[in-house]
Amino acid sequence: MSGATAERRAELAANLAAVRDRLTRACAQVDRDPTQLRLVVVTKYFPRTDVDALIDLGVTDLGENRDQEARAKLVDPPVRARVHFIGQFQTNKATSIAGYADVVHSLDRPKAIAALDRAVRANGREVTGLIQVSLDGATGRGGAQPEDVPALADAVAASALRLGGVMAVAPLGADPGSAFARLRTIAAELRASHPEATIVSAGMSGDLESAIAHGATHLRVGTAILGSRQSHE
Ligand SMILES: *Cc1c(COP(=O)(O)O)cnc(C)c1O
Repeated sequence: MSGATAERRAELAANLAAVRDRLTRACAQVDRDPTQLRLVVVTKYFPRTDVDALIDLGVTDLGENRDQEARAKLVDPPVRARVHFIGQFQTNKATSIAGYADVVHSLDRPKAIAALDRAVRANGREVTGLIQVSLDGATGRGGAQPEDVPALADAVAASALRLGGVMAVAPLGADPGSAFARLRTIAAELRASHPEATIVSAGMSGDLESAIAHGATHLRVGTAILGSRQSHE
């Protein structure tokens, strides 16, 4: 089995250390405990050799946003890490995703929840679902409108999935702080009716400090650890 080159391993190790350092500093600034945060390393567009190197470096959570790529990369042989599915998906992908994902961050439509519910009932795996919220009124990047969150959360809680909480991507070109503050309010309102829904998935390479200041529990970080995807996207 050929793995990542020594040079690539060193690069990933340095980047991962730098991100962990940012997490620790951001927590110190707002008096939070860094061990309460979960770092999800987003490996989309990067090869399995990078994934294996990251796992060797202690990474426990991986994020992918396309079913076909995730399945090809992570399933055979299975990765020794939790898999987070963070992208929009068509209902015909639900069975596949339910076969390897531990957490699905991108639930924003009743149909997607129903399809995943059927798939999880059929395969018996334990899958946690997060409601993706749109914080800019637009639907382009996915996400439910904030007023639709309670009904979607009820649907997940009534399904075979475990309701984990909420997820959002900060709107482009706007202050992430105000978006993450809004998400924090939505998350608190959700916990009033679903106390178990404690996950707040927010914060990416460019805005993780702001997300931590506003109560994020899960950070989804790609570029700062793996490098730019520009040549692939
Ligand atoms: C790609 C992606 C990320 C990672 O973004 P970076 O800026 O590379 O850290 C996080 N969340 C979602 C939903 C993504 O699609």
